Amino acid sequence: MKLMFIGADHEVTGSCTYIEACGKRFLVDFGMEQGADRFENARIPCAPSEIDFVLLTHAHIDHSGLLPLLAAGGFKGAIHATAATCNLCEIMLRDSAHIQEFEAEWRSRKGRRKGNQDTDPLYTMNDAETAISKLTAHGYDSAQELSEGISVRFIDAGHLLGSASIEITLTEEGVTKKIVFSGDIGNLNQPLIRDPQYLTEADYVVMESTYGLRNHDKPKGDYIHDLAELIQTTFDRGGSVVIPSFAVGRTQELLYFIRKIKEQGLVKGHDGFKVFVDSPLAIEATEVFNRNKNSCFDEEAMEFVRNNINPLKFDGLVTAVTSDESRAINFDPEPKVIISASGMCEAGRIKHHLKHNLWKRENTILFVGYQAMNTLGRSIVDGAKSVKLFGEEIAVCADIRILAGISGHADRNGLDKWITSFEGVSKVFVNHGDEDSAEGYKEHLRADFGLDAYAPYSGAELDLITGVFTNAEPVRIERKVPVSNNYQRLLTAMDRLSSLVKASKGLNNKDMARLTDTINNLCTKWSD
Ligand SMILES: [Zn+2]
Ligand SMILES: [Zn+2]
Repeated sequence: MKLMFIGADHEVTGSCTYIEACGKRFLVDFGMEQGADRFENARIPCAPSEIDFVLLTHAHIDHSGLLPLLAAGGFKGAIHATAATCNLCEIMLRDSAHIQEFEAEWRSRKGRRKGNQDTDPLYTMNDAETAISKLTAHGYDSAQELSEGISVRFIDAGHLLGSASIEITLTEEGVTKKIVFSGDIGNLNQPLIRDPQYLTEADYVVMESTYGLRNHDKPKGDYIHDLAELIQTTFDRGGSVVIPSFAVGRTQELLYFIRKIKEQGLVKGHDGFKVFVDSPLAIEATEVFNRNKNSCFDEEAMEFVRNNINPLKFDGLVTAVTSDESRAINFDPEPKVIISASGMCEAGRIKHHLKHNLWKRENTILFVGYQAMNTLGRSIVDGAKSVKLFGEEIAVCADIRILAGISGHADRNGLDKWITSFEGVSKVFVNHGDEDSAEGYKEHLRADFGLDAYAPYSGAELDLITGVFTNAEPVRIERKVPVSNNYQRLLTAMDRLSSLVKASKGLNNKDMARLTDTINNLCTKWSD
């Protein structure tokens, strides 16, 4: 029984942990690294075809985004997740493959003009479809035996529709160990979805620490009144409210808030004002929310459902899908709300809404999520006087606002509440937080709760029977050169070759000799 930390160790993105037990090899999450990528990740210690299955905590790309690459490398097993995560993953992995293909094509076209070589996408739509075909849905709360000695249970983590903490029970030669992966732990009182559920038993806990060092500045709150006031003042001066929003999760929360604003008549003098959702992914995601209401909605949202009210629908809601419909939005002179992706303004239709609206003093641009360094959203929030959009310099004259405190992540108090509900945990491993958060939260767990806590670096290996790290103190390796798509694809091809060789043990001597010759010829050809 062993566990190896692979990704999101002293980093926030690229979640992945490898486990070997009961004769099986499996992963918990296989996410894509996004934004600043400081440390080198260890490679999974076997080929994708040797991984028996994957357990997925939730659909966010930093937890699921490399599953198509795993499929491209020959992974044949199932990907186990809650039903809502399977539904969301389906649309998000397609969206991710589309972005990969689009960006590779764009880079290649740009590169060709400079005489550079083409870039391949990290993975293709085909790879995403293969991964999607492996998704296997489970309900919350009941333990499922996946193979002899391995049983898993998905517990609501209250972070995103379908999100889960995963409790894994492993029994090998009469010894049983229980490991709980927190997944991303949600904030309290998020609209639509339930609060995080608390567990009590585990030998080992692997937990996130995104907000390990701070508490949300505003008590969970009155977004409805803040949002209503902001819409009112903008509309009264003849402007529109443009909201760059993450398509999955945040957009549905906003629809929920706006429905309430309309129901309570909080915006006066603009009856029936229009709200445009201009993001195909956001529209698909909203449908997934509706489809999974019975298994995922909280009491308040279910109350609407029982009264035949769709909490994500209201008069004046317009979902634009085609690019013509999208363009038409800005020719409508009435004050309106436009919700569009991406949340950090880096891509998608939000860019042309900004181009049309950023320079008009009467408008408001409302940010509702974290803006990472070096993104267009961040530079607007930081007070840029003008920004470049589609090659044009656009003045920033609109009112720039932030809806404070809105977050899908538990803050430090929330993390404390989650971890202290356990009794008798032998070790806690802190991951999914940047360097300061992971280290700081680990120290806090030791000092304030007397827990035996660690913040492992990628590559650290743990013997699950003894609870001891089996390799030398894992070191942190600063990443110097970003890994190119083509190199990652080559490494994946190497994994396929290695599993092909291992699987050829039973071939007859003649075939083995032919395969050996083929590989040797290939090596000779490429080492010149
Ligand atoms: Zn997440
Ligand atoms: Zn995450």
